[in-house]
Amino acid sequence: AAKRQGRNNCRIYEVSPEYAREHGMALRSRLRHALGNGELRLVYQPQVGTESEDIVGMEALLRWEHPELGPISPAVFVPLAEETGLIVPIGEWVLRTACRQAQEWEQRYGLRLRLGVNLSALQLMEPKLPTTVFRSLQESGLDPTLLELEITESISIKAAPNLVENLQALHRLGCRIAIDDFGTGAASLDYLRKLPADRIKVDQSFVRNIGVDPDDEAIVRATIEMAHRLKRTVVAEGVETEQHLSFLRAHQCDELQGYLFCRPLPVVSFERLLAERQHLLGQSAAVPA
Ligand code: C2E
Ligand code: MG
Ligand code: MG
Ligand code: MG
Repeated sequence: AAKRQGRNNCRIYEVSPEYAREHGMALRSRLRHALGNGELRLVYQPQVGTESEDIVGMEALLRWEHPELGPISPAVFVPLAEETGLIVPIGEWVLRTACRQAQEWEQRYGLRLRLGVNLSALQLMEPKLPTTVFRSLQESGLDPTLLELEITESISIKAAPNLVENLQALHRLGCRIAIDDFGTGAASLDYLRKLPADRIKVDQSFVRNIGVDPDDEAIVRATIEMAHRLKRTVVAEGVETEQHLSFLRAHQCDELQGYLFCRPLPVVSFERLLAERQHLLGQSAAVPA
């Protein structure tokens, strides 16, 4: 199972946000070639059921391996890609690659894992987004209900033409919608009310303070309760400790994602995880009750 990997493949990003600010121009122009040069790749982080701690899904996360500077965090380069509009072709590549990967894993390991893909505000405003998603699903053969598109609250609903229409169209395709980093945007509740969201991802800044700040604990509890009353499910991000786990379990958070279980993994490591799980399950099934 995906239980407590504790693998220490911590990423050391060499490019700080300060460096990125100073060298923004150079990075931006370099980014233009990153896709064609094969410098981008995806890593996958498991999401587990809170009770079983068994893997139920994964989130695809983008990585940029700069030939000279080393790995650059998406927190640094995604905003640059948004400024230049490059996030649109990059985002298409992410969708295609992740859907293909998920479908391949489903066939190879017989597991129906949900796939979370992050969408940038810019992609959400593109009228062709539903077509792009539809194509990725068709090309890959992935069941649309397994694809969950993660949107952040950084954009105002009013200021985003096509946003609501796009999300409705994605829903009609069968895809799920998750509100990412819930609680950090300016309009969380408005989002929840107006957008067809199926899931809420509680932001890690709240989860981190479980056991530290009673106010943040109250926010996490209230978010879970509210989501359930609205018939939405909840995933907690950034689950790092046993204390986080027991709190989230006590308050019926549906799913968990974080270093306590597993870091984001390159394809080969993720496959090792799935193979191990398959092996373990095969063994336990063979043991008489
Ligand atoms: P996010 O979508 O909220 O993704 C979760 C982030 O939390 C990831 O950071 C993940 O590595 C990190 N994380 C997971 N578990 C833990 C934990 O236990 N502790 C801590 N401290 N962190 C944890 P990452 O991969 O650096 O990505 C940062 C952000 O970049 C993402 O936040 C997302 O907003 C954006 N991003 C990543 N991939 C893509 C993409 O393909 N497209 C777009 N548009 N944005 C992306
Ligand atoms: Mg996300
Ligand atoms: Mg998040
Ligand atoms: Mg985010």
